[in-house]
Amino acid sequence: MATLLETWRTQAYGNGLSKADQEKLWQEYFALEKGFYEEVLKDPSHVFEGTVKELADHFHIDVFHFTGVLDGIDESLKGYHNPIDSMDENTQVKIEIDPEKLYYNMVEAKASWLYGLPEWNSILTEDKRNELYRKQKASGTIRREGKKIYPNDQCPCGSGKKYKKCHMRIDQENELKAMAAEAQQ
Ligand SMILES: [Zn+2]
Repeated sequence: MATLLETWRTQAYGNGLSKADQEKLWQEYFALEKGFYEEVLKDPSHVFEGTVKELADHFHIDVFHFTGVLDGIDESLKGYHNPIDSMDENTQVKIEIDPEKLYYNMVEAKASWLYGLPEWNSILTEDKRNELYRKQKASGTIRREGKKIYPNDQCPCGSGKKYKKCHMRIDQENELKAMAAEAQQ
């Protein structure tokens, strides 16, 4: 039987779904993911522990999409990993974020609707955020564990607007600023 992670990845990245259904899956995922981070960032030192099912329920996310959340956050945890490859609903997992890693990884994912959340203002100073931003851009790594967003897609921030009319411009401006900052050094 397929693991939770295999099921999630096949549907989210594979060709098990039609283009329209996969698009719908990601729109739902982005909305749930944003709500998840809004709660986690309210108190970034809080440790969430329980089974996959218990934590999914806690965040009001179904286990399928919550698997995607656990997959996405796994590189941003405080010095450990959850057993995402093998976990099932009853596997014990823990969410304790490393704020700097998480911010960096959100920049890497080009998720401006996440690294731009106002909750960050009281977690990392503006200087620290700028430093992490530049460090990520200087690394040259672009990795979207999630998905590539096209200009005519709905913006993942949940505004209901097309990406090109919403966060795409912010992403592009940030890229240019980071490039200019690099050129200065
Ligand atoms: Zn947007």
